Amino acid sequence: MKDGLETRLHVATPLDDAATVAVTEAQAHYLRNVLRLGPGDELALFNGRDGEWRARIESADKKAATLALVEQTRPQRNEPDVWLVFAPIKRARIDFLAQKATELGVAVLWPVMTRRTIVDRVNLDRLAANAIEAAEQSDRLTIPEVRELEKLDLVLDAWPADRPLILCDETHAGQPLAEALSDDHLSSTNTVGFVIGPEGGFAEEELDRLWSLAFVKPVSLGPRLLRADTAALAVVAAWQTMAGDWR
Ligand code: SAM
Repeated sequence: MKDGLETRLHVATPLDDAATVAVTEAQAHYLRNVLRLGPGDELALFNGRDGEWRARIESADKKAATLALVEQTRPQRNEPDVWLVFAPIKRARIDFLAQKATELGVAVLWPVMTRRTIVDRVNLDRLAANAIEAAEQSDRLTIPEVRELEKLDLVLDAWPADRPLILCDETHAGQPLAEALSDDHLSSTNTVGFVIGPEGGFAEEELDRLWSLAFVKPVSLGPRLLRADTAALAVVAAWQTMAGDWR
């Protein structure tokens, strides 16, 4: 790890050189009882706006810990502006999806209700906790925004017309992904969205509406049928390679 700071924590408070930061009770427990860190030990903090800061533990007990900010070690860097809209899947896999999408640099995680979505509610706190942990581990300086579970029609009604929405259409009717991503508009934009259907796939009328929208680009992810979480991660990774921050 750069500058030897193994531990990174996301905090919600401002980070500037005048401040001391009080971490949450759960973070205090983690520092003291899991990592066995105490006064004088150092770690990295980030809040999604002020870059990364070296901080030194001033005091730590079971319920609280106060850290003094020492110096900024990295300037703020944002991820590409990628929104992942996905039909929620079963618990373990949605945790996995939240973690891996965060590592891949997704900026917004947006669970969507489609006709065949089998899950009718999503634990957003869990989703956010998985995303924060993945952001801490993957050296990100931001955490993804986790949005409320929303009906597909309402997501589409609210969708910004200038943000391309790449539809992963399992009927293979869409353009091959590599071809679609080589198209100038898609390869030059830093702003994009992806929509992935549920285990049971999109309903016909959902595909009809999606295909009819000017901002939607239907794509195929090859001849095999991918599980929803596989499709989500594959399409984000491909976009990062062709148009994102992996180039
Ligand atoms: N109905 C099938 C099933 O029950 O397995 C397919 C649904 S698939 C598991 C879930 C989602 O992954 C699809 O709605 C689609 O968004 C995406 N997907 C899977 N394979 C795909 C492919 N070859 N091309 C495009 N999208 C794919």
